[in-house]
Amino acid sequence: MAFDYDLFVIGGGSGGVRAARVAAATGAKVALAEEYRMGGTCVIRGCVPKKLMVYASGYPDIFDDAREYGWDVSHNGFDWGHFRTRLHSELDRLEEVYRDLLNGSEVEIFDGRATLDDPHTVRINDKTVTAKHILVATGGHPVRPDMPNADLGIVSNDIFLMEKMPKSVLIIGGGYIACEFACILHGLGVEVTQYYRGAQILRGFDDEARGLLADAMTQRGINLHVGTNIVEMAPAGEDHGGPTPTDSDAAMGASAKHAQDIASNPKSDTDKKAKGPIWVKSTNGNEQVFDHVLFATGRAPNTDGIGLTEAGVEIGRRGEIVVDDYSQTSVPSIYAIGDVTNRVQLTPVAIREGMAFVETVFKGNPTKPDHDLIPSAVFTQPELGTIGLTEEEARDQEPIEVYCTSFRPMQQAFAGKSGRVLMKLIVSKESRKVLGCHIVADHAGEMIQLAGIAVKMGATKEDFDRTVAVHPTMAEELVTMKEPMRTA
Ligand code: NDP
Repeated sequence: MAFDYDLFVIGGGSGGVRAARVAAATGAKVALAEEYRMGGTCVIRGCVPKKLMVYASGYPDIFDDAREYGWDVSHNGFDWGHFRTRLHSELDRLEEVYRDLLNGSEVEIFDGRATLDDPHTVRINDKTVTAKHILVATGGHPVRPDMPNADLGIVSNDIFLMEKMPKSVLIIGGGYIACEFACILHGLGVEVTQYYRGAQILRGFDDEARGLLADAMTQRGINLHVGTNIVEMAPAGEDHGGPTPTDSDAAMGASAKHAQDIASNPKSDTDKKAKGPIWVKSTNGNEQVFDHVLFATGRAPNTDGIGLTEAGVEIGRRGEIVVDDYSQTSVPSIYAIGDVTNRVQLTPVAIREGMAFVETVFKGNPTKPDHDLIPSAVFTQPELGTIGLTEEEARDQEPIEVYCTSFRPMQQAFAGKSGRVLMKLIVSKESRKVLGCHIVADHAGEMIQLAGIAVKMGATKEDFDRTVAVHPTMAEELVTMKEPMRTA
């Protein structure tokens, strides 16, 4: 049977775009459909705008430190309107870069929502096309808890469209997004309260690292409450028995342009209701009014309403597309990569999955994406960089040595700051391999990328030790820790 395309990609995020381009480079005829903005979660409403906000939020510390270093620094506060305009023009630029890359690779772009009619047929608006292979890379979306009035809260997508900086925000959750936005908003001058239902934020990360980070966040002034959750919420001032708002000035509506953006944005489920101050009752009985409640309570795969089940694609318990090691679904012509498969929700992983898919299907070289030893960073202040096993995981697996140091870094100590950094290596007693590396420090994201190469290569503690320290740096501690802090 002759198909219109060799490959039809649904979703113009990082994974879909990379797969489309690399497949097209093999000579395949490729098309890609995107219903909203090219670039997907990472570029438009995730990693990129978040990181730019991380940078913006770091300046108060820089100004403070600069004074201690002898600079005469003053500033007049943060101008969100100015920053937001610059932010969105940067996102527009990046979106164009993505389009240009696709055009340059001769991938045909369909601007519209694609749905499956059958295992080889895709419908985009009124048009149907056929493809030998279909790659679903539709990503995921933030989810709110199932509770009355949850739609009064905002989600991470909405942050980048705020018209005004709110004065106070309650963040629900203790994962990457909750902790990153707690630090970002606090750095931008917002009073931040964070409720996390568990005993310690960042479940799954190394206990010592997350403990240090939680302390650092609290010391910075974030009102972090663990073992606490939201139980009720309502528009402030309604007859819920709670206090009335004292400040409704900071309502976070949408500007004309961005209101339109929200309205036409199928990725945002924020409704058009006014998002004014919200009264909240928490599990500890506390009642408080916040300008906004940000739900950072996880993300779910975008699998609804695209004809997957009808086409015979198996969907898992969490709404994810079930795939095998080669990203193939239960329908042989349909593959899926990235967040929609709910394997590891990270952009570089989606890109790797996309490239492995092309290698397998278009280059005749069956390749499994490698999900082992993935480094990652939480862009809090300070950052948390991590690769490999936590101390808790490692000691359940085999006898280990834990090398660990916590100290005040030179730059901040000079400026009179009390914050500490953590450098930690988990080492196998038997093989001597470094099983895990955990860093809490400014720029830990940059450090873990490099340490990650050594860990991925299977470096031993002795390999680390025979590497000469770069002095004076924070990371030199990774190669100078002589005695284990403890064994387990
Ligand atoms: P996470 O799954 O990391 O965190 C969700 C948080 O919400 C958890 O603390 C969870 O608690 C809590 N939660 C879930 N449901 C409820 C509920 N009903 N009530 C209260 N709390 C609840 O999701 P995120 O949205 O933060 O991030 C999604 C993914 O995106 C991450 O896993 C990561 O892979 C990726 N990401 C990566 C970034 C990076 O690389 N820097 C940045 C941002 C996102 P509990 O722990 O108890 O389950």
